Amino acid sequence: MTPRTWAAARDRLAFPLVAAIEVRGLERRYSDEVLAVAGIDLEVSEGEIYAFLGPNGAGKTTTVRMLVTLLQPTGGTARVAGFDVVREAPSVRRSIGVALQEAALDPLMTGRELMRLQGTLHGLPSDEGRRRGDALLERVGLSLAADRRVGTYSGGMRRRLDLATALVHDPTVLFLDEPTTGLDPVSRIAIWDEVRRLNDDGTTVFLTTQYLEEADHLADRVGIIDNGKMAAEGTPGELKSQVGIAHLEVVIAAGESAKAGEILERFGVPMPARDGRLMVGLPRGAADVAPIVRALDEAGCAVEALELVQPTLDDVFVEKTGRHLEGAADQQHPEQQPAVEEPVSG
Ligand code: ATP
Repeated sequence: MTPRTWAAARDRLAFPLVAAIEVRGLERRYSDEVLAVAGIDLEVSEGEIYAFLGPNGAGKTTTVRMLVTLLQPTGGTARVAGFDVVREAPSVRRSIGVALQEAALDPLMTGRELMRLQGTLHGLPSDEGRRRGDALLERVGLSLAADRRVGTYSGGMRRRLDLATALVHDPTVLFLDEPTTGLDPVSRIAIWDEVRRLNDDGTTVFLTTQYLEEADHLADRVGIIDNGKMAAEGTPGELKSQVGIAHLEVVIAAGESAKAGEILERFGVPMPARDGRLMVGLPRGAADVAPIVRALDEAGCAVEALELVQPTLDDVFVEKTGRHLEGAADQQHPEQQPAVEEPVSG
């Protein structure tokens, strides 16, 4: 068990489960033609990381904007930290931290000035605001850049600063809208590490993402949204096991494929071969691999390559919607592809 899951399990044993976010029939219609969120239900427990996964235009940002009280629902209800997002919006706002996609960071201010401003906006006394701002800059690894103008920060540094500004008033629920879109892999992992640390400290996290890997690595539970409707929900493991079983791909020396194919069939569910690779679905997963290798060896079949392939969240998405998730995102937003991060000069 990782420290994160251990901390989460411990906390859940010690305290009764409370819904940090509770959404019932939530809907947002922008016009007669556009029903962006078409009546969704979801619940996020205190201490969870919940990833809201879906392609461009699925309704993720619209949902987040309703939950953080920036947009009025046109139907249904939502409670965040125990407060209704419409009737108790100020209480919701006091309880949450928000880092949206279009972070409006003044490029002429330094990171430290921006943190002070956030502290003031949240009503912190100036001494406390300064202390808290400096501690958060340290936390997200920006102490050395604290007195540089934000306009000189790289994309990853801006995201980390944005995260720090969302934490000034110590929120219990943190909303992150596509926190790593457009970042290179190293910056992405730095954000993931910080999100995990925050969660270990007890913060509930609701994040939207187009990245399967992000949902898979970070989230306790994943909700998949497509065309404004919930397509699936569960832990990454549950969702993947709904789709099916792991399969083994084997490359056998020329001339021995037929014999090898018969052996593989004895162990699992035969699948069509692809690119010269024999495939078999394995109900018991990794436990079947060693006996298969032994059986192939005993039959004199030379194994050139062998790979156990687990079902992915994309398989889940394909099964629920008939489309690939990442392919859809890539085609629509090529400019958001991860790029090597370079500090912006100026
Ligand atoms: P992305 O990953 O691109 O941010 P998303 O899943 O967050 O996508 P939304 O931004 O919530 O999706 O958009 C959902 C739908 O609502 C899309 O069809 C979008 O074009 C539409 N939409 C979003 N904002 C508005 C608006 N202000 N007016 C009209 N339609 C809108």
